[in-house]
Amino acid sequence: MKILWKKGAAAVLVFVMLLSGCGSGSSADSKTLSDGSSSGKTSSASASEEFHDTSGSIAPVGEEYMTSIEVSKNADGVTQAVRYVFAMDTEMMLEAFGENAEAAVEAASEEVLRIDQLLSVGIGTSDICRLNQEGTAEVSEDARELICRGLEVGESVDGAFDITVYPLMEAWGFTSGTYRVPEEAEIAELLSKMGADKVTVDGNTVRLAEGTKIDLGGIAKGYTSGRLMEIFASYGVDAALVSLGGNVQTYGKKTNGENWKIAIQDPEKSGKYLGVLSCHDLAVITSGGYERYFEEDGTTYHHILDPANGRPANAGLRSVTVVSQDGTLADALSTSLYVLGPEKAAAYWREHPGDFGCILEKDDGTLLVTENLADSFTTERTMEVIK
Ligand code: ADP
Ligand code: MG
Repeated sequence: MKILWKKGAAAVLVFVMLLSGCGSGSSADSKTLSDGSSSGKTSSASASEEFHDTSGSIAPVGEEYMTSIEVSKNADGVTQAVRYVFAMDTEMMLEAFGENAEAAVEAASEEVLRIDQLLSVGIGTSDICRLNQEGTAEVSEDARELICRGLEVGESVDGAFDITVYPLMEAWGFTSGTYRVPEEAEIAELLSKMGADKVTVDGNTVRLAEGTKIDLGGIAKGYTSGRLMEIFASYGVDAALVSLGGNVQTYGKKTNGENWKIAIQDPEKSGKYLGVLSCHDLAVITSGGYERYFEEDGTTYHHILDPANGRPANAGLRSVTVVSQDGTLADALSTSLYVLGPEKAAAYWREHPGDFGCILEKDDGTLLVTENLADSFTTERTMEVIK
């Protein structure tokens, strides 16, 4: 069996439109940052425009890790602070601008670690781990909120997003790295343990049905980036940008008054982009089967599972980027729309156009962009607008 292990994402932009939203989210296992330089770096785009490259790369298994905070003055003479962190199984870049930038980045990194400790399925003492082991647990406010939001989004997308996916993730080996293709009967048995009706939330007490386990990996990073925006606001920074494994959220505009330019990774070609999004105050979160997968007998199996059949989602999309003011929503929807496929994703957007926008890359390379993002997204490819 050939094991491939990649990670990355893309992100975003937008410009005028104000989308609605609120929150943020988190979870996952912890590992080590091999080299902070690959995450969230700024590089030159074609026409001498600067943009944030949101592709992330995967580091070897290890512990949470963070670099010291680098403080400097940027070209506008504004104090800039940046730190790279490895947590939630991914490389993160936290960057803030303004007088309190350093303190804000320090507080932001503490928040990342705090949330990771609460939500990671890879940390034995986390709320989620205790809940999965015991079947019933008193959980933190963060965990309660995320479980509720996960269930809410799951219902709105007819079960395509399902936080009870954990036993399936285990069966496919995505939680351990010991990948395998489960038998149909095993998948059927695990599917019978899944579903929103297997989770009961009563205040901060959460109960799971026998054999049910939850996984907030599809929503946690967006929740976290949303929380970080609240921290940046409380420190009064001028601007900030975080990239959690390529999932980007921006606070304010760049210190020169311009929008952030965020390049969305081309899943097929590392270092290439589907296009660039110009935005401020938005989360830009990407999901794709190219982020984590293994190959067996010439078939590729990736980590976004379709709760309808227990197998890697295969609905005709290579990558889905969701843009919203609400990081939690953007993260949950990026995973959901990937499972739904292009037609259902477009239909879902038409029902909720004020909540988010999205950029979909179909398996044939065609780009579909919702009308509310069309003016902010620049691409050399042909793009079809979803209206
Ligand atoms: P990433 O975390 O790699 O950026 P996603 O946000 O799409 O990508 O989340 C994928 C993760 O979500 C998986 O690793 C798994 O933990 C979880 N997951 C997989 N399939 C589903 C699903 N159908 N619904 C909810 N969560 C899922
Ligand atoms: Mg997601």
